[in-house]
Amino acid sequence: MAQNATIHPGFAAHSGLDRAKHINYWKRCLKTYLPHQYTSNDSNRLMLSFFIISALDLLGALLPSTTPAERADYARFLYSCQHPEGGFRGFPGTDFGQLRNKQNKQWDPANIPATYFALSTLILLGDSLQRVNKRACLRWLLQMQREDGSFGEILGENGQIEGGQDTRFGYCATGIRYILRGHKTGSVLGMPDINVDKLVDCIRRSQTYDGGISEAPFHEAHAGFTYCAISTLSFLDRLPNGVGGHLYHYGNVRLSGLTDLDLTVRWFVSRQTTTLDDEEAADTYSDETDTTATCHDAHSFVKTRSVPAKSDETCEKDRPPPAVELQWIGFNGRPNKVADTCYAWWTCASMAILGKLNLLSYTENQLYLLSKPQHAIGGFGKLPGDPPDIYHSYLGLAALGVLGNDAVKPVDPALCFSKHGATLLKNMLWRKRLLGEPGSEGPLVDSDDEVIETAEPRGRGVDVRAHQNLQVRYVRRGSEGETTLCGDGESTVASHDSDQVTLRGE
Ligand SMILES: [Zn+2]
Repeated sequence: MAQNATIHPGFAAHSGLDRAKHINYWKRCLKTYLPHQYTSNDSNRLMLSFFIISALDLLGALLPSTTPAERADYARFLYSCQHPEGGFRGFPGTDFGQLRNKQNKQWDPANIPATYFALSTLILLGDSLQRVNKRACLRWLLQMQREDGSFGEILGENGQIEGGQDTRFGYCATGIRYILRGHKTGSVLGMPDINVDKLVDCIRRSQTYDGGISEAPFHEAHAGFTYCAISTLSFLDRLPNGVGGHLYHYGNVRLSGLTDLDLTVRWFVSRQTTTLDDEEAADTYSDETDTTATCHDAHSFVKTRSVPAKSDETCEKDRPPPAVELQWIGFNGRPNKVADTCYAWWTCASMAILGKLNLLSYTENQLYLLSKPQHAIGGFGKLPGDPPDIYHSYLGLAALGVLGNDAVKPVDPALCFSKHGATLLKNMLWRKRLLGEPGSEGPLVDSDDEVIETAEPRGRGVDVRAHQNLQVRYVRRGSEGETTLCGDGESTVASHDSDQVTLRGE
């Protein structure tokens, strides 16, 4: 920062995105073993998969760095984690295969974040989601909502919903809902909708006096939880009027998903900070008193070099000139905290959703990311000089995409992946058909619907792509009975090994 600032060993030493280094970093993550520190994250493998594939996509390097066969393999791996009762596992380690039974299945649950990451990664890989068992996934999603409107992470013993009640799981759950059924309300593929009003009310209860959103009522607001809540409202089309959403009815009163939009915007603007690393943050430690000597450090969070400050004179003398000090502006997650790479994403993406990105100092915000936590080997650390990690490296890159850096693809701030990926999703025929878009008329077929050609039944798992104009009949498998749909056979239908299937031809 100032002339005598510490030079960190990992300092990238320039203010542009070193695209080649970042691509190399992510290719290493994709094609070689991760460092041993990731071992404990084995059960989060689908989250790591998403960050790695999506980062390469953001850098425009996914297709050049992988072959079609490799991408098909990645998709096959993700589908291998699809859970028999809907959703996706976090990793293959809990799959009992043939040995799965009523007693042990509680140890092999589908996982809400893993399902959102699996669907997102498949989209980025160019998969059409035809093999996703959408009906089962939507059925499982219904089971994941609690009475108070919140969502959990997994179903545990006796169908108990486990996991925190904060907005992270609501975000992933509504992201799954958005991918599989857009903004459509009511029944889809025979499955009713989640209780949207209750979830929105849950978010309203977690809003704090200062405009942020916390993990639970009466807790401290936090940028990560606030981002998750705002994106949830975006997925549910429940943002306040004027920010892409509508007021809605709750009981007899019209309410928006945010109780005070201006206050929330102000809270996000206040997440900008010039306290950029632990060393600087030391000034704020143990300064609890409000004397003239310390109030400057404790409340304005501008860097000084005297620890502790002994007088007003010392404070002012060592304070960097404002022009230097404001070259870089980072983001914290809560008041009184040091800047951290990931909060650039949580803040900028939220402001982008709210249409208020122009209120941030985005030139200085980009300079902070590129000059401070960007690492010499590619990727981003949490703080300047920290080694890059997958989480901060991805969110730093995504934040640059939201801030308009031209070395990164534009990012959809709610979905947390490229707008290119969002377009791939919107163009999927099955989804257009489900949303009733003009020109997409045809049957809604799920991956567990069995296909029988009307003229000549050929058994289960018929690939009907070869029969574009042939009338076919689908019989739904499952304990709830059978549903018959007719259509033009556009979809590919997966085969199943159940003997319960009734084949019907005419
Ligand atoms: Zn962080």
